[in-house]
Amino acid sequence: MFIIECGCGNEIYVSSGDDRGAWQCEECGKWLNFFGQEVPPPFSSPEPALFKDYDPDFDDDED
Ligand SMILES: [Zn+2]
Repeated sequence: MFIIECGCGNEIYVSSGDDRGAWQCEECGKWLNFFGQEVPPPFSSPEPALFKDYDPDFDDDED
């Protein structure tokens, strides 16, 4: 177990087997990484890279 200290003063207790990479402060709602640095909420940042390489003409001859 380790403790992440949020900027608001709250301490987030994380079990050592937890490897999510980001944890939410229950007090202020910020998301913090292992080092206590604020990170974007993992669920609210859609990954544009998934669609970046999409080429509508790639399978053109299949239809
Ligand atoms: Zn906080």
